[in-house]
Amino acid sequence: PYDLTGKRLWVAGHRGMVGAAVARRLASEPCEVVTAGRERLDLRRQREAEDWMAEARPHAIVLAAATVGGILANQSRPADFLHDNLAIEANVIEAAARVGVEKLLLLGSSCIYPREAAQPIREEALLTGPLEPTNEWYAIAKIAGIKLCQAYRRQHGRDFISAMPTNLYGPGDNFDPRESHVVPALMRRMLEAAEQGESRVTVWGTGRPRREFLYVEDCADALVHMLKYYSGEMHLNVGTGEDLTIAELARLIAKVVGFEGEIAFDTSMPDGTPRKLLDVSRQTALGWRPRTTLEDGLRATRDWFLRNRDRAR
Ligand code: GDP
Repeated sequence: PYDLTGKRLWVAGHRGMVGAAVARRLASEPCEVVTAGRERLDLRRQREAEDWMAEARPHAIVLAAATVGGILANQSRPADFLHDNLAIEANVIEAAARVGVEKLLLLGSSCIYPREAAQPIREEALLTGPLEPTNEWYAIAKIAGIKLCQAYRRQHGRDFISAMPTNLYGPGDNFDPRESHVVPALMRRMLEAAEQGESRVTVWGTGRPRREFLYVEDCADALVHMLKYYSGEMHLNVGTGEDLTIAELARLIAKVVGFEGEIAFDTSMPDGTPRKLLDVSRQTALGWRPRTTLEDGLRATRDWFLRNRDRAR
């Protein structure tokens, strides 16, 4: 295993939902965590990434910095999703190799897999078919990230690994209606409808797509487990191994926020990929499993949003 004792870990992207959860989780490990905010460090600039690496000298890196967003954000800002993510990965990985970083964990997502991949999706499904068009910009960048880690392993002997979590939600999520993923979007819409006494909310698409959701604190725990116990070329899936339809998710969120009105579906909005359920055999074999049920995670997310409403993005 990779021993974190006395190590300096840089969490890149510590203001994002995943990076923040990883930084919180690392607080209970015998290591030092270093971070740098976006206002002083723009990882899309190679020079800035190199200067920071030379100054911070981390032993290990969790690369959670990325341009992310829901189905609509991906469609409306394809250049940002492709360029920013390619630049961040290339700059950080190259700079890390140069200063001799021992271990690097790249974060991606389950949208890297072909739209028609057999379910549950095994890691081997990568690059076996066409991608889901609504998020291919982000997916292409993350596939390049996986390949960068593999290439630096082969050519430079670096222990650079990558994790592909399923759809994540939890404290620190983005609740902006235009940018957000489905959980914060529906949670906010239903909370506001309940507060304003509205009798109806709209859910995008048909409600029939199936998705798997992992609580971000569980994800952070899985990533720390991977840092310690995983080393290899293959990217690893991180998930729960269970999914549900968007309609079922909408009913569960309605229950959690106390919305009792009607749930309508706007079929003029995109469904995205029909199903996205990960095969988590490798994660299980590595000795890790999630702890938080979807309902408990949704309750905790609701409580966080209610406490942080003014500050939530
Ligand atoms: P995806 O997993 O990459 O498709 O990301 P999303 O979390 O954005 O969307 C998941 C599914 O939820 C898609 O089928 C969306 O159409 C559906 N969905 C329903 N209502 C909403 C909403 O208000 N916002 C978002 N982002 N998705 C929604």
